[in-house]
Amino acid sequence: KTLGMGCSIQFFSANDDEAATRRHLLERDLTSALANDQLWLAFQPFLDLGSDRIRGYEALLRWQHPTLGPIPPSEFIPIAEQTGLIHAIGHWAVKTACLAAARWPRDLRVSVNFSVVQLKNKALLDAIVETLAEAGLEPRRLEVEITENVLISNFEETICLLQSLSSLSVTVALDDFGTGYSSLTYLRKLPLSRLKIDRSFVQDMLTDADCSAIVKSLVELAHELRIEVTAEGVETLDQLDYLRRVGCDEAQGYLIGKPGRIDDIPAIAARQFGV
Ligand code: C2E
Ligand code: CA
Ligand code: CA
Ligand code: CA
Repeated sequence: KTLGMGCSIQFFSANDDEAATRRHLLERDLTSALANDQLWLAFQPFLDLGSDRIRGYEALLRWQHPTLGPIPPSEFIPIAEQTGLIHAIGHWAVKTACLAAARWPRDLRVSVNFSVVQLKNKALLDAIVETLAEAGLEPRRLEVEITENVLISNFEETICLLQSLSSLSVTVALDDFGTGYSSLTYLRKLPLSRLKIDRSFVQDMLTDADCSAIVKSLVELAHELRIEVTAEGVETLDQLDYLRRVGCDEAQGYLIGKPGRIDDIPAIAARQFGV
C-alpha cells in the first residue's frame, strides 16, 4: 500500500475494515476473558539432552474465544499490552503456573514469559514473591523468560529487577536468542541462567553451514559464561542429534512435546527419550 518515491498513501480496503472490527471485538472481549474462564495455560516440556529426562515445562497462554475459537497469543498479547490488561493476565498466568508446578515432582521447573510492559511494572517483583509464597513453590523452580526487546528502554531498571529475582533464586532465560540486536552485551550484563536459541536457527542449522556454525559457537560461548542453552522448535530427530553433538543442554519443540493441557502432563513426563 505504499507508493514509491516517498509518497505514501493509505487505502482502506474491506480487509482493513474487517481487521479493525476483529480487533475491536477482541479488545472488548479480552476485558472479560479472565473472569469468564476463557484463558488457560498450555505447558510444553523441556528435554534434558544429557539425561534424556524432562526438566520442566514452559507455560504458554491460550485464549479460547466463545465464537471466534482459539486466538493465537501473537494476536491477543499485543492487545493485552496496549490496553494494560497484560498486568492482570500476566499475574493470573504466573500464579496459575506456580500453583501447577507446586504439584509436580520437585526436580521440575516452570518457566513463564514476561513482556516489556510487564517488566516495567514496579509492582511485579512483589507480586512474584507473593505468588511463590502462596503457591508454596521454591523460587529456584520458577524461570522468567524475557526477550531482548525488554532491554531497549530502561536497561538499568530491568537489570535491577532481574538481579533482585536472581538473588531470590528465580532464574532468568533470554528467549528468542539471535533474533534481536546487541545480544553480546546482554550476555555480559544480565544475570542469565539460560539462553534459548530461536527456532529459526534450529530450522536452518542442518541445511545452512553458517547457521550450524552459529548454533555450535553459541553453545560454546554460553557455556564459557556458565549459561545453559535450550534449543527451541526442535521438530526432527536429526536436529536433536546435531544439538546433542554440539553439547546443547536442552531441547524444546514438537518432537519432544507440543504445548498441551495440564491434565496431559503426567503422560508427557512419563515418556522417555532413549534416542
Ligand atoms: P515463545 O515464548 O517463543 O514460545 C514458543 C512458541 O513456539 C510457542 O508459540 C510454541 O507453541 C511454539 N512452538 C514450540 N515448539 C515448536 C515447534 O517445534 N515448531 C513450531 N513451529 N513452533 C513451536 P505460541 O504458544 O503461539 O506463543 C507465541 C508467543 O507468545 C511466545 O513465544 C511468547 O512470546 C508469547 N507468549 C505466550 N504465552 C505468554 C505469556 O504468558 N506471557 C507473555 N508475555 N507472552 C506469552
Ligand atoms: Ca518463551
Ligand atoms: Ca522463544
Ligand atoms: Ca518466538
